[in-house]
Amino acid sequence: MIPTSQAPVYLDYAATTPLDPSVLDAMMPYFTTLYGNPSSIHYFGQQAEAAVERAREKVAAVLNSQPGEIIFTSCGSESDNQALRGIAFSERANRQANHLLISPVEHHAVSRTAMQLKNLHGFELEYLPVDHFGRVSPDEVSKRLRAETALVSVVYANNEIGTINPIDEIGAICQSQDIPFHTDAVQAATYLSLDVQALQVDLLSLGAHKFYGPKGVGVLYNRKSARFRLMPVQTGGGQEFGLRAGTQNVAYIVGLAEALQLVAENQQVWIDRIQPMRDALIGRVLETIPDSRLTGHPRKRLPNHASFAFYGIDGNALITILDVEGFACSSGSACKTGNPEPSDVLTAIGLDRSWALGSLRITLGTHTTPDQIDRLVAILPEAIERARL
Ligand SMILES: *Cc1c(COP(=O)(O)O)cnc(C)c1O
Repeated sequence: MIPTSQAPVYLDYAATTPLDPSVLDAMMPYFTTLYGNPSSIHYFGQQAEAAVERAREKVAAVLNSQPGEIIFTSCGSESDNQALRGIAFSERANRQANHLLISPVEHHAVSRTAMQLKNLHGFELEYLPVDHFGRVSPDEVSKRLRAETALVSVVYANNEIGTINPIDEIGAICQSQDIPFHTDAVQAATYLSLDVQALQVDLLSLGAHKFYGPKGVGVLYNRKSARFRLMPVQTGGGQEFGLRAGTQNVAYIVGLAEALQLVAENQQVWIDRIQPMRDALIGRVLETIPDSRLTGHPRKRLPNHASFAFYGIDGNALITILDVEGFACSSGSACKTGNPEPSDVLTAIGLDRSWALGSLRITLGTHTTPDQIDRLVAILPEAIERARL
């Protein structure tokens, strides 16, 4: 039930973000008058193709890369799938590399793809250790790299606990050993640098709806390199340099590029506004709620991200209580709602069941106000008491 006194407050920006109005404006012509197929030779096709190529250049500029290294996909999940399968299959075909090294705090788009590569295709899957903040240590990557490692994949910033990984250091290690390195940057895109040269990544995944763009469109950055070659997963027409068949979703691609540029231009302004509200929220929650703890790193975390565990509460019940009170929050990854098992990520950072089932994720964004945070903090202690098991 939505309380009549106040509109519901959205505090789940890690699940998705609202489309920025300027992004919608940029997209509109491609739903109406500019409807050509980018592969067509005629005038209509040329207009659509030009729009896709302008978008590719914009994305490439933000990533400090070349347009020929930008592949448009249907979402962040597809980018992760294409990166893992595309490298695993080609590295095995080219040099018998059969070893996959991933973190235990990956999004399911990575972890379940890796699991399928193991179960169905016989790859050896090894998990990197993480500390109790969910961070991967570059030294641990170093120790585990082998000549037959096909791919290393480490999430840039975790969606459930907000922890940021030292991607540049891991990238340097992988590059020195000539091992392809992928990072899932879907959560990181709004707040962290996406400079693929500084990060030293070979493959990087993005999904537009996490940065004020439309749902259903993503990017896979694919470094042009003599060391490896991505094998296409979706075969058919020659779109996207033969790496992702299917007529491009022109309007959404235009929207993705517009949103990414918006983010690049406003990143620091947004951080300066959002992070103090987030810090106040964390401080107040830990102060006022007994048996509470922050999950993820206290400082090396996304500036809009607060995540907690409360001992002995039902996290899903808490989300429902908060929803009735007019606050939209999450217990972790959006896909896990209704699942009574503790999340893989919270288990990987060593939380036992009584803590891990009582998780709460509050993620802020461009529309968040200090007043909204004050109101949430005011009702939270009682909401948590009601959710105690
Ligand atoms: C949301 C998310 C994904 C999936 O992106 P979609 O565009 O929704 O498919 C992958 N990885 C992380 C870290 C995410 O937060």
